[in-house]
Amino acid sequence: MPELPEVETIRRRLAPLLEGATIEHAEVVDPRLTRPVDPTLVAGALVGERIVALDRRGKYLLWRLSSGRTLVVHLRMTGSFRHAVDGDLPEDAYRRATIALDTGAAVGYRDVRRFGTWELLDEDHLTPYLDSRLGPEPLVASFTAARLAVLATGRTTPVKAFLLDQRRIAGVGNIYADEALWRARIHPLRPAGALDAEEVARLHRSVRAALRKGIERQGSTLRDYVTPDGDGGAMQHEFHVYGRLGEPCDRCGRPIERIVVGGRGTWFCPHCQPR
Ligand SMILES: [Zn+2]
Repeated sequence: MPELPEVETIRRRLAPLLEGATIEHAEVVDPRLTRPVDPTLVAGALVGERIVALDRRGKYLLWRLSSGRTLVVHLRMTGSFRHAVDGDLPEDAYRRATIALDTGAAVGYRDVRRFGTWELLDEDHLTPYLDSRLGPEPLVASFTAARLAVLATGRTTPVKAFLLDQRRIAGVGNIYADEALWRARIHPLRPAGALDAEEVARLHRSVRAALRKGIERQGSTLRDYVTPDGDGGAMQHEFHVYGRLGEPCDRCGRPIERIVVGGRGTWFCPHCQPR
């Protein structure tokens, strides 16, 4: 599933193409994408809108539109965008929606497993929608170690599950949670509220470092994730623990282990990340 670095990479690639352009034609061919709203209603409402900005919050892409509405896109498992500057998108059996711009460019939305969502929200609904689902952005200046300490206080949940909870911190998923915990040398099963100040400070630095590395490498391509140019990311070549069962730890050389935390596969070094 695309996490913060993958969604941010998509945003950075699409923004120059979308910002300032007006939507001339929109087609949503899969009713699951916009349900319970009729897809023709959403597509119809998009036509004539100018895209003021392409923003991101957590794993959501926010298409801010000239009417004040926002198209809120979540890619879930397998959603991705493809763009064509000349408007000529390649054939794709998994394309669920297409947007044509007045610049002549086109953007296609592809989703094999069809869990992705498109919601068109009014100004009044956007903030409560996001605030009820998302904690702070981990890469903004106001996200300090002290802020993380407050979020973790009293939490008995394993720190791995704490990191995955979008209502605590926005945008961290399975890959970057494991990478951050390895960097911080914290066992994934430690209760979040039991970390001392030094550990919280390390975790804070590590979450940000892992996410920044992911953005720098244009995200991780394991199966479906591609940038809007059709390129893969390169972060998968630099994982320290994720998916590396039995391989030597980059720090101590001992084998990486795998456990399940909160239903999610979790990779860690039992030597560097003691219980
Ligand atoms: Zn190790």
